[in-house]
Amino acid sequence: MFIALTFVLALALGVALIKIISHRRAVRALQQAILKKQPLLSEDLPGAAGPAWEQLRIAGNELIIEVAQLQQQRTGQLAQLEATLGSLQEAVLIVDASNYILLANKALQAISPRAATQIIGHRLELVLHSSEFLNYVESVRLGKALPQHEVEFVEGARTTWLEVTGTTIQSQGSSRGPWTLFVLHDITKQKKLEAVRKDFVANVSHELRTPLSVIKGYVETLVDGHPDIPAADQERFLKTIQRHTERLNSLLEELLVLSRLESINPGLHREQVDLRALLTSIIDDYHGRPATAGQHLELTVDPTHGILFVDPLKITQVIENLLDNALKYTPKGSHIHLSTRMQGLGEVIVTLRDNGPGIPAEDLPHLFERFYRVDKGRGRESGGTGLGLSIVKHIVQLHGGRVWVESKLGEGTAFSFSLPVRANGQG
Ligand code: ADP
Repeated sequence: MFIALTFVLALALGVALIKIISHRRAVRALQQAILKKQPLLSEDLPGAAGPAWEQLRIAGNELIIEVAQLQQQRTGQLAQLEATLGSLQEAVLIVDASNYILLANKALQAISPRAATQIIGHRLELVLHSSEFLNYVESVRLGKALPQHEVEFVEGARTTWLEVTGTTIQSQGSSRGPWTLFVLHDITKQKKLEAVRKDFVANVSHELRTPLSVIKGYVETLVDGHPDIPAADQERFLKTIQRHTERLNSLLEELLVLSRLESINPGLHREQVDLRALLTSIIDDYHGRPATAGQHLELTVDPTHGILFVDPLKITQVIENLLDNALKYTPKGSHIHLSTRMQGLGEVIVTLRDNGPGIPAEDLPHLFERFYRVDKGRGRESGGTGLGLSIVKHIVQLHGGRVWVESKLGEGTAFSFSLPVRANGQG
């Protein structure tokens, strides 16, 4: 009896042990399937695990498939978001409450070269060095900022102006919230244009003020004391008024020429032009002018460049501006030489060389800027507007050419410009 009881107990124990082992195997198989995110097959379950395990397997598989689908969906959305942010011109940046970068798009690289490296997880201060921007970040976080703010970033020699828009966003259950999102729009070009415009208005006002105040002064004198002023003085006053009126006139005319050249429709009328004939007629015309008397004016033309496709009136204006300067800024008896030469097959180089006083090296890079004069007082006295070389540059560039100057103090100056020639022999 005792033996039979012992046997039954041992049998029950054996069966229970087999069950426990099968359950453990089943748990491990399910665990592996979840870890690998792969559905569990029926044959992977030990036979002894029982029907309850089969149900658990089916439910587990449904969960595994659902999680995989959700993950796929999320990856797709993230890729879409990254592509959208990447294609934006504006830089987009999200930081957490401690200024750690959570998201940044490619456009940020244009602002800070540091952003070219992996910056997610780095502190904002290490990527964008601007205390002004960091202050703005803080005020957005505290809800005290204006919706838009202009910030200046200085990176070595480069300055970038940005219009920054900032807002706080939900931190999606993260403890490091609230997050702040910034959109940074590069407005450096607009800022530069604004500065150029302001500069231009200031320069024009300055140029207009002198002749206008001279005219005003003399007119008032003539009006107030007309009977007492000797006739010779009256005439002198009137001549001064005339000279300054002409100066005002040429200033306005040159400003109009410049604004036309800079407009969308600069009025370039190209035609087949024999450069030799054009230059010869300009030089002939100058030989008859009083300003040329006492100067040695010479022309040498390369016979190989033939016909060019240019606007003859505008090229005439370029040559005349350069010639007028050479006559104006060199003393009597100087040599002024206009010449052309072919450079390869692609372009004609036209040079006007004088042996006048020359131009200091530090002025050369600025000569083609509007209103730039080497000798401020003398330039104005001689009736110059400071716009002539700027007009030259614009016309040459409209023709697809380049313009440059070489000069040595005491030796003279050479202004050159190129005009492209097409392969069929036409410019
Ligand atoms: P401006 O109306 O004053 O002549 P430009 O733009 O034509 O203005 O010339 C700019 C400046 O360049 C002049 O004011 C002058 O100082 C200098 N310059 C131009 N051509 C010569 C030259 N051939 N020799 C010396 N200086 C020159």
